[in-house]
Amino acid sequence: MTTTQRNVSEQQARQVAEAARESEWRKPSFGKELFLGRFRLDLIDPWPAEQPRPDADEFLRKLDTFARTEIDGARIERDARIPDEVFQGLARLGAFGMKIDKEYGGLGLTNLHYCRALTLVGSANAAIGALLSAHQSIGVPQPLKIFGSPEQKKAFLPRLAAGEVSAFLLTEPDVGSDPARLGTVAEPVEGGYRLNGVKLWATNGTVATLLVVMARVPEKGITAFVVEGDAEGITVERRNEFLGLRGLENSVTRFHDVFVPEANVIGGLGKGLKIALTTLNTGRLSLPAMCVSAGKRSLAIAREWSADRVQWGRAVGKHEAVAKKIAFIAATTYAMESTLDLCCMIADDDRNDIRIEAALVKLFASEMAWQVADELIQIRGGRGYEKSESLVARGERPAEVEQMLRDLRINRIFEGSTEIMHLLIAREAVDAHLSVAGDIIDPEAGLNRKAKAAARAGGFYAKWLPTLAVGKGQAPAAYGEFGPLAGHLRYVERASRKLARSTFYAMSRWQGKLERKQGFLGRIVDIGAELFAMSAVCVRARAEHDRRPEGVELADLFCRQARLRADALFDALWNNTDSVDVRAAQRVLDGRYTFLEDGVVTSPSDLAWVAAWEPGAATVEDVRRRIPQAEA
Ligand SMILES: Cc1cc2nc3c(=O)[nH]c(=O)nc-3n(C[C@H](O)[C@H](O)[C@H](O)COP(=O)(O)OP(=O)(O)OC[C@H]3O[C@@H](n4cnc5c(N)ncnc54)[C@H](O)[C@@H]3O)c2cc1C
Repeated sequence: MTTTQRNVSEQQARQVAEAARESEWRKPSFGKELFLGRFRLDLIDPWPAEQPRPDADEFLRKLDTFARTEIDGARIERDARIPDEVFQGLARLGAFGMKIDKEYGGLGLTNLHYCRALTLVGSANAAIGALLSAHQSIGVPQPLKIFGSPEQKKAFLPRLAAGEVSAFLLTEPDVGSDPARLGTVAEPVEGGYRLNGVKLWATNGTVATLLVVMARVPEKGITAFVVEGDAEGITVERRNEFLGLRGLENSVTRFHDVFVPEANVIGGLGKGLKIALTTLNTGRLSLPAMCVSAGKRSLAIAREWSADRVQWGRAVGKHEAVAKKIAFIAATTYAMESTLDLCCMIADDDRNDIRIEAALVKLFASEMAWQVADELIQIRGGRGYEKSESLVARGERPAEVEQMLRDLRINRIFEGSTEIMHLLIAREAVDAHLSVAGDIIDPEAGLNRKAKAAARAGGFYAKWLPTLAVGKGQAPAAYGEFGPLAGHLRYVERASRKLARSTFYAMSRWQGKLERKQGFLGRIVDIGAELFAMSAVCVRARAEHDRRPEGVELADLFCRQARLRADALFDALWNNTDSVDVRAAQRVLDGRYTFLEDGVVTSPSDLAWVAAWEPGAATVEDVRRRIPQAEA
């Protein structure tokens, strides 16, 4: 790696992210309109119809039986290893080809069925959910499906559908949230490219036989390659261990003069990050599927335990403090499932652009599922903190509550950390403003550009601002067809306009500095997530009313809780400690408060916080795990 790549400026980092962004909107977007103060309920109502797929239902039935009889979650947790037989059993079922089209040997499932499968299998063991999701949502199948050539699809997809595992390798020791620092290089050579670099934390990296590798082609930019996992020059240097997901096969992988044929470039030179981002539009839905899994299990445990456990003369679930937590778990699980199902079905219908909604669901579900699991631990008291094996050894029923918390934590970090999701969604939320007023607030734009932008913006805002003053949400009878939920939708309509007004006000106040107001932008996005979730639960509850009338109660419960959170966020937009915190953090970084660190033992170490790596041949043994292929 060169020093220049290590010293990427903030502006360069932003330019790389901006270049990878999909700037066009070809289809309507509920999320985009919501942030502009236009509550387009018609884009998600009526609730989309599920595509009938008897073959997918049959697959889910078989997967259910397999998960109940063949997956021993406790063993995976204890051994920190998914047994070969589980890989092979999943392969025989076709689980590695869920998202691969039938013509290439896959099951060609819809997003909805795929996510249901992840929810199901993830409830047996979350590491298996992560294995399947990393394989198909970010691994080779999805980018090839969208960007691959017919030859690439023919060459690789049947192998993957049959059970070969794939992985996605972007992260490096020096590259986490900031791909501009990417150091893996793909140098053009006769017939292809020669790869050199080290990749960190690749899920499935220890077992994968086909990899998507992101590498920098000189002069062309970051490019995605399909690489054979067994290619000469690849060494799996380590299998990493984590707080949770103990069964995860996650690697440090070294590339030393690895030859990759020209035909293995995906989607063209320099298109790597765009491919990664586009892949994630629907790929992001798989993490929420795991969160829904955790929500459902939490609800079942909370229900049974809280009715059974008696303290102070009553079942603990009847004490108000615990009851509130149970209500939160139930309402939040309903909302996580509703938002996920809605996004999946809209993606399956291909009727809307779902990039904002999918990002909102990833953000919302990963944050809320963590809170759900945390509340469940509290409800379980001391038993919540105890390992499942230890409970069983004492003769009590197993409940992997502490494991659930550990397994869930990573969802707030990978596939876009919460902080990065806030920025990414905020960027889309203010896109309409930037396209008309961008130059006014761009510190680098000259006076001429600013004047032109001001004229353009004047026209736009003269039309747009008045639309934010009044709306359907103020009419007492609006959304009456939603019965008891109508008031919540009126709230969403009003709040959507308030959200847009707040964003506009912030843009006028801070102009070019708005992008640094991460506290403000984060709250804007979080309010958007609550409003989207409220809309989804109301539409679902109404659509399912005949066969599941109790859904209305859950939708109402969720909306009441979400409104309180949204109101608090609106308040905090202007009443907060953001600037004070930023100044305080700087003083912490400057070492002003180190006295506060006295009196504890710290582990001294000479090692760097981020390990440096050098190109070259591996100096450690290959720790790759080879999974024997399943016999048909
Ligand atoms: C279990 C596990 C599995 C993984 N699987 C894969 C995989 O399969 N493939 C792969 O390529 N990668 C994978 N990753 C990497 C993962 O995607 C990264 O950890 C993630 O992108 C965050 O990068 P980082 O850890 O380097 O954090 P950093 O980028 O160092 O960030 C540190 C903190 O700063 C915040 N931050 C960073 N930039 C900004 C900013 N501009 N504004 C505000 N806050 C900011 C972050 O949110 C975070 O809180 C995996 C990681 C783990 C732990």
